[in-house]
Amino acid sequence: MRKRWFSLVAAGLLVAGTLVPATPAMAAPTFKVPFPCGQVWSGQTRTNHSPANAVDFNRTDDLGDPVVASAPGTVDRVTDLGGTSYGKYVRISHPGGYHTYYAHLNGFNVSVGQSVGYGRVIGYVGSTGGSTGPHLHYEQRLNGGDIRVRFNGALALYWGTRNYTSDNGCSSGGTATGTVNTSGTPLTVRSGPGTGHSAVGTVADGAQVTIQCQTTGTTVTGTYGTSSIWDRIGSGRFISDAYVYTGHDGFIPGVPRC
Ligand SMILES: [Zn+2]
Repeated sequence: MRKRWFSLVAAGLLVAGTLVPATPAMAAPTFKVPFPCGQVWSGQTRTNHSPANAVDFNRTDDLGDPVVASAPGTVDRVTDLGGTSYGKYVRISHPGGYHTYYAHLNGFNVSVGQSVGYGRVIGYVGSTGGSTGPHLHYEQRLNGGDIRVRFNGALALYWGTRNYTSDNGCSSGGTATGTVNTSGTPLTVRSGPGTGHSAVGTVADGAQVTIQCQTTGTTVTGTYGTSSIWDRIGSGRFISDAYVYTGHDGFIPGVPRC
């Protein structure tokens, strides 16, 4: 779960083009949507964009939302151009002559020379530079020239607007880490996904747990609201997701159903 109950109350990987047989082209990085795992963003391409192949991303109330590295690489620019052009932008250098650009940011969360991986927050959506409203201006470049954007090897929509769902930084092993939050008392571990199953132990408030899979069971109201999701944290060991911070409301992307 992500939202706190209290706050609710209160308020193809190869580069397209010619391959030279003697020296095979280096595979492009596997670029991912530049937002955290599971988020859905509207991406727009248009012929009058500068540069033409850039994508502008939006979602509701996106000002200040985290922007994450599209692929592993090294941050080589963290620059503020003031009220013109990109405004505050980050550039990441990737193997093979590729760069990604993240522009009009509200703020930075990396510095030049830093190595970043998938899911790493590099800055926040803003409206700096030559921007008329909050959005992320995103580019992929090869050897300095802008190229048509691909995510997981699939070409973005040219031209038009469509939704993109991020799998950037999703747990790769099919498990996720959660943090138990009971505001004090230990959380009861059950042999199955519900309060009717026998208690087989407890987990301390603040403990980190590895969630192997999730399923539905007894509806429970806890620290993070009301949920019928139960997290399996071991063989024959289940806890209510209503007391576990996972960063997601509902099921966690990439984690299987039990
Ligand atoms: Zn743009």
